[in-house]
Amino acid sequence: MHGTSFEAVARVQGVRRELTGLDAVEAVLCPPFTALRDVAGALAGSVLQLGAQNVHWETEGAFTGEVSAGMLRDLGCRYVLVGHSERRTAFGETDLLVNRKTRAALDAGLRPIVCVGETNDQRESGRTEEVLRAQVEQGLAGLHPRLGDLVVAYEPVWAIGTGRTASAVQVQTAHEFIRALLSSLAGPAVAGQVRIQYGGSVTPANARELFSLPDVDGGLIGGASLVAESFGRIVRAAA
Ligand code: PEP
Repeated sequence: MHGTSFEAVARVQGVRRELTGLDAVEAVLCPPFTALRDVAGALAGSVLQLGAQNVHWETEGAFTGEVSAGMLRDLGCRYVLVGHSERRTAFGETDLLVNRKTRAALDAGLRPIVCVGETNDQRESGRTEEVLRAQVEQGLAGLHPRLGDLVVAYEPVWAIGTGRTASAVQVQTAHEFIRALLSSLAGPAVAGQVRIQYGGSVTPANARELFSLPDVDGGLIGGASLVAESFGRIVRAAA
């Protein structure tokens, strides 16, 4: 929930300048709903893609204030975040809702970016794997044949917006565990194809190390994406 539509377009123009000539990395911008249409226009003719930050699980109906996957497609979205920790914490989104939203996004032809991750207390009490298992298995229940169409973002809650990035070992261990869970759901071939992104205080200074880890296929960038120059440097680190 940052900024006006005008500011979002200015950021996109900055990002486009930063990424001139770079087309080897798939990059997606997920502005607030209110900026989607203008940002779609500002992305025209670039390799950058559009995504949203949330979606409702029904296709239409009496759900005042909500936005369906079809509406997002209509605005040019290709991706949508599902189950971001702020949605889980502040809006009570459960793994069941994450599952329904993920299904709705896939049904509408969107690629869901399904966010999972443990809190600080859960990590400190040795429950990281238990939490990730529940989030992956319940959040993606029944979606095994379609796992190849989605992205998983590992975002330890304690690392989001805190400047406290997870260590390379913590990130690789969690990603490897998530890939093993996906493999048990859909087999190793599909699990190998699923993009698993790391999110949590990624900056230009730490991006290269994080992206070079064997099971890290990209990043989910929050604060650093609000500054075109730092987002551009992070995308270049992925290249
Ligand atoms: C986020 O908001 O999902 C996030 C990863 O933020 P930051 O990069 O600022 O930690």
